Amino acid sequence: MKVMNCEQHGDIPMAYLDGYAIGDTLLEDVRFEITIVKDKVKATTHPDDKFYMADLNEKKWLKEAAKMADGYDNLQCPTCKGEVIMETR
Ligand SMILES: [Zn+2]
Repeated sequence: MKVMNCEQHGDIPMAYLDGYAIGDTLLEDVRFEITIVKDKVKATTHPDDKFYMADLNEKKWLKEAAKMADGYDNLQCPTCKGEVIMETR
């Protein structure tokens, strides 16, 4: 089972992936909200970044974001901004 773990908050239901990880400077500072639904990684665009993503191929980037986040060890906790790792237990 996939879980996202923050050192400070334990297992959390949602973490951010910085767009830089998949789109370099094009997506720098764009936040994707990563969740796990039925053990599948899901990505949605943070509401604040929806306007920016509307000019890009959002569907494609969401797919990339979900792929990248799967097992990634550098997600961000929305509460403490600390590092979140995705792991399978
Ligand atoms: Zn945290």
